[in-house]
This record gives sequence, structure tokens and C-alpha cells, in this order.
Amino acid sequence: MQGSRVSRGAASGLRGADTRFIHLGFEYDTFCVNPPVYCANLLRSFIVRGGKCVERHLHSEWEAYDIAANVGLVVNASGMGFGDSKCFPTRGQTVLTNLEATGGTVTRQNKDGSWSFIIPRFLNGGTVIGGTKQPRDSSSEVDPATRELLLRNACTIESYTLPSSQAIDTAKVIADIVGLRPTREGGMRIEAERNKDDSNGVGPSRQVVHAYGAGGRGFETSWGVAELVAELVADALAVDYAIVRAKF
Ligand SMILES: Cc1cc2nc3c(=O)[nH]c(=O)nc-3n(C[C@H](O)[C@H](O)[C@H](O)COP(=O)(O)OP(=O)(O)OC[C@H]3O[C@@H](n4cnc5c(N)ncnc54)[C@H](O)[C@@H]3O)c2cc1C
Repeated sequence: MQGSRVSRGAASGLRGADTRFIHLGFEYDTFCVNPPVYCANLLRSFIVRGGKCVERHLHSEWEAYDIAANVGLVVNASGMGFGDSKCFPTRGQTVLTNLEATGGTVTRQNKDGSWSFIIPRFLNGGTVIGGTKQPRDSSSEVDPATRELLLRNACTIESYTLPSSQAIDTAKVIADIVGLRPTREGGMRIEAERNKDDSNGVGPSRQVVHAYGAGGRGFETSWGVAELVAELVADALAVDYAIVRAKF
């Protein structure tokens, strides 16, 4: 990885870090996205290229064949799938603040297994302080005690990314954020499935390409997942992969 550095034990090397307290550390150059801005831009690109959106609650992925005329293929990107017993939510609570971190993003796994991270959001999007990873917890309620803990723990890493004029204990909280990471035992399901029987009225020639269960890495893996999905879609429709790829 370009510009990467590793630090073990008391070795020196990580920018500004007191390595006496670090067991293992990595520093590297990478992308940092502001998800609302990034997703809005992806949606805009889709629409500009002729894509259309409809919003429906589905009881099954096969039901998607009924929501429009002449549906050629369905891609099931529903996060946790439909009744997949391997899927479960991993709750994450974070705090959006008015801080303007400048030194990149910092993540630390603490001795007790918990995580502290500071993520700047470009385009004046503030700074996210986080965060929890709570497997099989589907509560979308904000826990005020967790907010306090996250802010307190992040004070110990603020010097790596916040300018000296800013500090977490003076931050204004803009929003508490709770999200559910769509997690799947064994990893994502990325495969094509042909309809087994006609009991759902869809017909045996229909196929669904599944792409769900990304857990906490859905953004980072999204371009690779999309490549795999495009290959499966090309196979399912018996068309050239280059044609499918060029469309998106
Ligand atoms: C606190 C937190 C921190 C995170 N940090 C990172 C990170 O650092 N890096 C990273 O890569 N990822 C991160 N993620 C994870 C990332 O958000 C997920 O991996 C990603 O959202 C998964 O995208 P997805 O589109 O597969 O699923 P989702 O975002 O869950 O989208 C699924 C979609 O399917 C729709 N849907 C579901 N069921 C139905 C139904 N029955 N009918 C109709 N529509 C339905 C939903 O409405 C939704 O729009 C984080 C998540 C959280 C909560």
C-alpha cells in the first residue's frame, strides 16, 4: 500500500503517535468518503444515465419481478437478504460534531476491545466521533451514556488529527447517529440463484443475483462487489460482460 507505515510495540514510525502505548499500528494513504455526499452523487449518476427509482417494501426478492413490466433480472442488494438465517445486524452508534479534523482519520482498538475513531467529513460535513460495534443488537435508539463514553475515549486520540485550536470536550454535537451494519456469518452472499419452482408465480427461467451481507465494509468493498455482480449479471443474461459494464 502506498505511503504505509507499520509500528509494533515501542517502535517509532507513526505520525505523532506515542508508540509506548501502541501494540500494533498502521498508517496509510487512502480515501475518506462523506457517505451522504457520495451516495447522492452515485444516485445522480445513475439517473443521468437513464436509471429510474421506485420505492416499494418487498416480502421476497422474487417479488421485484412484479414491480415493473419486462423486468429482465433482479439484483438483491437488500443488506440482510430475505429470511437468511446467517444474517444479523451489528449496531453502530456515532456522534457527528462540528469539529474540523485536518489530520486524516484515526481509528484505535482499545485494550478492552472497544473502538475509538475520528473521521473528518469533507465539504464542511463536520467530524464523526465513534463508535460501537454491537453484534445482534437491532436497537435504533440513541444511548446517551454511549455518546458520553465515545466522546471521552476519543479525547485520547484527538491530538493525531484535530488542530490544536479544537478539542473534543468543546465540540458541539450536531447529531447522534445509530446505524445497523448488515452482517452475515461467513461473509457476503454474492451469487446467482435460479428460481427453483413456480410456487411464487415468477417462472423457472427467472434468476436473482444476490449481493448482501457486507457488514461494516460495504463502502470499502462496493466497487469490487459491483464488478462481481456485473459478471454474474452478464452470465445470467448471456450477454458480453463489457456490455453490462459499459451501462454502469
Ligand atoms: C456506524 C457505522 C460505521 C460504518 N463504517 C463503515 C466504514 O468505515 N466503511 C465501510 O465500508 N462501511 C461502513 N459501514 C457499513 C456500511 O454502512 C454498510 O456496509 C453498507 O451500508 C451496506 O450497504 P448495502 O447497500 O449492502 O446495505 P444497506 O445500506 O443496508 O442497504 C440495503 C437497502 O435495501 C433496502 N431494503 C432492505 N429490505 C428491503 C425490503 N424488504 N424491501 C425493500 N427494500 C429493502 C433498505 O431500505 C436499504 O435501502 C458502517 C456502518 C455503520 C452503521
